[in-house]
This record gives sequence, C-alpha cells and structure tokens, in this order.
Amino acid sequence: MPDALLTGGCLCGGVRFQVTEPLVRASYCHCTRCQRWTGTAASAEARVAPGAFRITAGEELVRQYLPDRGFAEAFCSACGSALWSRSPTDADVVSVRLGAIDGDPGIRPQHRQFVAYAAVWEPIPDDGLPRHPEAPPG
Ligand SMILES: [Zn+2]
Ligand SMILES: [Zn+2]
Repeated sequence: MPDALLTGGCLCGGVRFQVTEPLVRASYCHCTRCQRWTGTAASAEARVAPGAFRITAGEELVRQYLPDRGFAEAFCSACGSALWSRSPTDADVVSVRLGAIDGDPGIRPQHRQFVAYAAVWEPIPDDGLPRHPEAPPG
C-alpha cells in the first residue's frame, strides 16, 4: 500500500482515513445542504485523486446519508463529524472536508461555489476568490 500523504479523522477519533496523493482542488461550498450538514456558513472541501482515499479505522462507525441528488455524505455515527462525500455512481470520486484533515492539507480553497445560497448571517469574506452563484463551470 502507498504511504499516507495526509491523514484525518473525526472528532471522537473512531474514524480515521488516509489520502495517498496530493489533493486535486479545493473550494468553499455555500449550498444549503452543506450548511445543514456541517452547521456552518460554508463548507471547505477538497477533491481526492481517484484511488487515493482509504479508511484506516472505524469503518463500522461510518454512516452515509444519500440525498435525492448529489453525493452521499459520510459521517461518524459516534460523534456526528461530517467527514467526506462520495459519488453514488463512482466510488473513486471522493471529496473530504478540509476540517477533517490533520494539519496542513497542502491545498487552499480556490473558489467559492453556490454563493446564491449563502447564509444571510455571515458575509462572504472579501478574499478575492472567484465566486460562482451555482456550481463552478466545467
Ligand atoms: Zn467520531
Ligand atoms: Zn455544498
């Protein structure tokens, strides 16, 4: 097995995972679902290279919520941490929440998406990042 480049896990420490290649891209998502899922105004997430994600502990604790559309949201059933999302049609397509990564994820969010749905209670930071009302083009 390849060495872990990044490690991460949930709040209680029951679920642990590894990422074996540099994260591909990162963004802030302001969609309503991410607000609900994480309890925050925006979710910072990064796409993992295909095949570079593996669960190393606590797989039995992981539960998934599969909404009508979009990715299945994986969380720890013991502590509730939002951990990663996975395509329901391609298990190799995984995005991890940056807050679940130990230390520096080696990437910074490059744009903000779904800002049309941004929380009314927190201004979008004036950080110069491109803002997309819906999903980013491409
Ligand atoms: Zn946990
Ligand atoms: Zn979202």
